[in-house]
Amino acid sequence: MDILKNPRHPMLTYKLPHRVMLIPPEDIKAMLKCMHKYMALGLAANQVGYPLRIITVDPHLVMIDPQVISVKGDPVTAYEVCLSLPGVTRAVTRIVEEITVTYKDAEYTLCETKFSAMTARVIQHEIDHLNGILITERGDEWKV
Ligand SMILES: [Zn+2]
Repeated sequence: MDILKNPRHPMLTYKLPHRVMLIPPEDIKAMLKCMHKYMALGLAANQVGYPLRIITVDPHLVMIDPQVISVKGDPVTAYEVCLSLPGVTRAVTRIVEEITVTYKDAEYTLCETKFSAMTARVIQHEIDHLNGILITERGDEWKV
């Protein structure tokens, strides 16, 4: 399992449909392993070639068909990087004070959980991937 790094690859630009997603547990484990190997904070399944709405978030969170159902707070800009865009940094504005997300966990149990700060940012970055959106479309170049 390795990371797709061509930003024009259709797997990275296509909005994945919401549908029933069954993924072998070993493939979810492989996603987590891949995320850890690259010391990433998150990974979307389509970044490693699976056309499925599944993300992993450091350290061990698995989210199947994650959807942000509400957000609270003011927009905050921070820099983001992406495994699929080596060397690219973008200033991306997102609401991260509190987001509520519904998803199914690795056992397909429906969850509704609130996240904040960096985790909220990572989840939104990874959901963007599932919608075919890269940080190059989200933010300006980071200027120090
Ligand atoms: Zn990314």
